[in-house]
Amino acid sequence: MIVDLAELRLKQRPIYVDSDFQENQLLVKSKIARLTEPVHSNLKVSLESDRVKVEGRLAAVLCLTCCRCAGEFEKSAEKNFMLTYVPDPKSGRDGEEFELEYADLDVGFYWGDQLDLAVVLSEQILLEIPMKPICQEECKGLCDQCGVDLNLSTCDCTRELADPRLAALADIKKRLTN
Ligand SMILES: [Zn+2]
Ligand SMILES: [Zn+2]
Repeated sequence: MIVDLAELRLKQRPIYVDSDFQENQLLVKSKIARLTEPVHSNLKVSLESDRVKVEGRLAAVLCLTCCRCAGEFEKSAEKNFMLTYVPDPKSGRDGEEFELEYADLDVGFYWGDQLDLAVVLSEQILLEIPMKPICQEECKGLCDQCGVDLNLSTCDCTRELADPRLAALADIKKRLTN
């Protein structure tokens, strides 16, 4: 959903958006997360000279993949935000760099006198995805030998030492004893 800023400027009053965004309208591309239902959002978009202010809230249900056991679990995310967008100081550069700055700064950029609310929401949702999702703090993960889910059953494998330095030590010890 694209807001025409020229139109907003003419109107001289904020616009209010109350709508649901489907996953295919958003840009939440992640290997460890997907959206299980439409993202609900309430947004107010206003203009102060050339600064665009987006105030609002969103409610989403994320389906995350546990980094230990690879099982999926749901996490609901509700958040309020207030964001400011200014005209892109260097227009015409490639999109990749643009996206990075978008995510890193409190102030985002727009160009072409328009603001895509789907992009605004996608950024806010991406911030809710943990780097390493864990289904529960006590998740035991999968056996690195046989792949069994250790939350559900046990196995007889002798587990390798996780720390590579310890593993190296164990290796030396083994060679000395042989
Ligand atoms: Zn897990
Ligand atoms: Zn095993």
